[in-house]
Amino acid sequence: MPWHQQQWQQLQQSLNQGRLSHALLLCGPPGLGKQQFALSFAQSLLCSNPSESGQACGTCQHCHLIQAGNHPDLQWVGPEEGSKSGEIKIESIRALTSSAALTAHSAKYKMIGIQPAHRMTNGAANSLLKTLEEPTSGTIILLLTDQPARLLPTIRSRCQSVLFHPPQRSQALEWLSGKVEHGDPALLLGLANGAPLKALALNDKTLLESRSEMLNQFLALSDQRLDPVKLAGIWQKFDYKLLIEWLIGWVIDIQRLKVSSSSGPALSNPDRAQALQKTADKLNSRAIQSYLKKLYAVRALTDSNINLQLTLERLLIEWQTCSRQGA
Ligand SMILES: [Zn+2]
Repeated sequence: MPWHQQQWQQLQQSLNQGRLSHALLLCGPPGLGKQQFALSFAQSLLCSNPSESGQACGTCQHCHLIQAGNHPDLQWVGPEEGSKSGEIKIESIRALTSSAALTAHSAKYKMIGIQPAHRMTNGAANSLLKTLEEPTSGTIILLLTDQPARLLPTIRSRCQSVLFHPPQRSQALEWLSGKVEHGDPALLLGLANGAPLKALALNDKTLLESRSEMLNQFLALSDQRLDPVKLAGIWQKFDYKLLIEWLIGWVIDIQRLKVSSSSGPALSNPDRAQALQKTADKLNSRAIQSYLKKLYAVRALTDSNINLQLTLERLLIEWQTCSRQGA
């Protein structure tokens, strides 16, 4: 990805100076391509003939095995397939960190990717910690996460950090325009908070129609024109994580419009600026701020087992209450 250049150079430099850590922590918001980066970097280390800038040749045996997804020296661990909790269990970490598994078969390095690293159970994290404390030469562990604060501090401190940020808007738009045939790259990028891969995933007609309809319903709710409990029943069938992200984006835009001068702020939902402005005019800043806090609290719990219907009902009832307070 064009916006990975700095991170790529950082690691190549460490490598050339013999300072590459045996554990790398790749962190940044979702949708920036951390996994693609990790894969390219792993390929670059396993490749028998990389270029001067570290790019894999794409034609050697190692490259072929990686492209086919079955290189014995590159392994990924994540939550078990179909796992309800979404956690990475201690057994999965143990299987990868046993001494035999840590030795390279055919390449110079043994690469292990863990994603999402913050979903390791305590047991799994502690098991990994032992491996990080006594690293095996030639083994490199890549931890990928968008929530680094949820990792054990002792794990974080043993890793070399590689930070990912949303690219410059112009760069992201240029990349996105080449991928999106129908659809509005600027709108998609706004909806994805500047994360290009997330923007690309949102380029789906049905999804965008749902968003439009749900935004209408959310705004109608603030005019007391809909029943929050009924609406919660409809919304709970939708992708919950995405829904919470959207709610946060709408309310942040309302807040931006509330406090902005006449020039108009940059919005995540620029296509709906007028409708959002109308709602902003009817609400007071303190109520918006307090509602936003509640949304953040709910987002922090999205990985746990929560009662969807109840959580949504509460959120939507609170939105109506917040709207009743007036400007
Ligand atoms: Zn190669």
